[in-house]
Amino acid sequence: MKALVYHGPGRIAWEDRPMPVLREPTDVLVKISKTTLCGTDLAILKGGIRTVQPGRIIGHEATARIVEVGSGVTDFRVGDHVIVPCTTSCGRCPACRKGLFSSCDRGGWLIGNTIDGVQAEFACIPCADTSLHRIPAGMDEEAALMLADIIPTGLEVGVQKAEVSLGDTVAVLGAGPVGLATIIAAQFYGPSEIIAIDLDANRLEAAKRLGATTVIDNSDGGALAKVMAMTGGRGVDVVIEVVGSPATFDLAQRIIGAGGRMANIGIFSKSVEMHNDILWLRNITLRMGVVNANTVPVLLKMIQAGKLDPRGLISHRFPLGEIEHAYELFKNAAREQAMKIVLSADDSAPPTEAIDEQVVQYVVGRIMSVLREG
Ligand SMILES: [Zn+2]
Ligand SMILES: [Zn+2]
Repeated sequence: MKALVYHGPGRIAWEDRPMPVLREPTDVLVKISKTTLCGTDLAILKGGIRTVQPGRIIGHEATARIVEVGSGVTDFRVGDHVIVPCTTSCGRCPACRKGLFSSCDRGGWLIGNTIDGVQAEFACIPCADTSLHRIPAGMDEEAALMLADIIPTGLEVGVQKAEVSLGDTVAVLGAGPVGLATIIAAQFYGPSEIIAIDLDANRLEAAKRLGATTVIDNSDGGALAKVMAMTGGRGVDVVIEVVGSPATFDLAQRIIGAGGRMANIGIFSKSVEMHNDILWLRNITLRMGVVNANTVPVLLKMIQAGKLDPRGLISHRFPLGEIEHAYELFKNAAREQAMKIVLSADDSAPPTEAIDEQVVQYVVGRIMSVLREG
């Protein structure tokens, strides 16, 4: 099969790799239908995520068809059409019992990190029963794909951790795909203002289209003064930091008002300065984390109810085999006006009950090899 392999900083290749095999009875093997690139993949490419070793197949967001189930899998069958979320979890360890699925003893963010990922034709997915989500019949598959990471991340790590509430003034620092997903998710809770701050005019345009009430281009460094003027010098109720840079973290601390809640989604490659000397007087709360992906079922319901359409986050579409080209484009996201780039297997189609021919061939091949091995 073909897969996108990380070969060390700055080096990736779409190349032949052996077919993945089940590692545990609780695993399933899937044929990738759609996958997408993530800012995290770019961080890997820069060598900024130390857990990702050269030789790793990367990618952690996909929709797929199950082609083989382990003997311990009870809730999924061959042919099921599923969302593969970036976080997998066992459902039984102490962390999972507390609802901290991203800190699972046997899970968390493994796919495309410490185990092979989903920017490939096939992938082995652990803890299938407690990690995968069936895509409802008739649902647009691209909409479902957006639930593999960015919409749950914006909702859980941003909006829910910062406790966005009715009437709040919310500032979102960074209007890349996850920032835009955060802007979409914040609207579920009825804030009065959503202020999007970025350096890129196209992304701010998208932010406006997706629900930001004010957009601020901080290329001139004027965001602090503008936010303070907008809020009568009091600062905002909620800041959601989605960049992971010293500059945005600093701005977040300066615009947060008394009793403010700050959520940090951005991934920092090193520690940044925190102004405890100022913040303690303001009674602020700071939270951060990794997506648990436990909101996927409710988000599927919201799509079905017509209250969520995350397809507005998608800017480009390519066949899966053109993934190297997609990376080139994504690396120059500002110039190319790239947000989410969807990569589809040749035979990926709207949801259908039929199992495609490649899956049938694969299953027959596996049965034959098991018979041969005796
Ligand atoms: Zn991602
Ligand atoms: Zn667990």
